[in-house]
Amino acid sequence: MHASSHSGKIRAGRPVDWHAAVDGGKRETFDGNDQPARLFEGNPDSPLLVVCDHASAYIPPRFKNLGVDPRTLASHAAYDIGALGVAREFSGMLDSPLVVSGVSRLVIDCNRSPDDEQSMPSQSEIFHIPGNRNIAPADRRDRIENIYQPFHDLVEAIANEMKNLSVMVSIHTFTPVFFGKRRQVDIGLLYDQDRRLAEKVHDIASQERGVRVALNQPYTAQGRFGHTMQRHADPRGLPHLAFEIRNDWVREPTEQVRWGRFFAGLMLKAVDELAPIVDSA
Ligand SMILES: [Zn+2]
Repeated sequence: MHASSHSGKIRAGRPVDWHAAVDGGKRETFDGNDQPARLFEGNPDSPLLVVCDHASAYIPPRFKNLGVDPRTLASHAAYDIGALGVAREFSGMLDSPLVVSGVSRLVIDCNRSPDDEQSMPSQSEIFHIPGNRNIAPADRRDRIENIYQPFHDLVEAIANEMKNLSVMVSIHTFTPVFFGKRRQVDIGLLYDQDRRLAEKVHDIASQERGVRVALNQPYTAQGRFGHTMQRHADPRGLPHLAFEIRNDWVREPTEQVRWGRFFAGLMLKAVDELAPIVDSA
């Protein structure tokens, strides 16, 4: 358990040239490096740790693209479209460390328990994943030990190093149309056990016009979709939040910057208003 008293203030940082950092902004993958997880450094004294579980569509060559077509590989089934760009801008603006997964959630979903049947899905919404039918035990072990575990080990290690850690945030995006049905929310604020941060951000974001914001929508993090926060934030008693934004709003780098800054602005206000609560937690 980390002491969350004397939590450092979140500082407004500087914009980061993440376009240059990640393949010129063209590809949201880390192929060539084959890294299961990656840290984008930030101020280690920050109270905020940012995580992006579904940042990459990259599938290591040994999985032979799991037998799926290019359309599936480019879809929301493979990764959270635009999430990496939003997370880079968000964490950069708040000068905070960011841990991202470097492998597609089709191989193994780092935001699910490995016991969950959707950890290595053979079907994701309308997409079939032939390579995930009847996975051999050795293959299953490979994915858990070499992709899932290193990602969570890195989150754990960075969280342990952050002496002032008092808030955890993850960045996700969702498809605005799911099974042919239009979703009725633009931005979701997801929490599991600790609702303090999500409710505060919801209060502030609800004042924005033209944005439909909702708590634990379009799905709830109280259950299987909240794995990363359950694993890292709840045991530490940390206020936490998963930002979800519809992916058609963040397809372009300029939009990712815009919404990353919007979320950063919400966080600065929310944490400021929460400070007495967070400090006495
Ligand atoms: Zn996601």
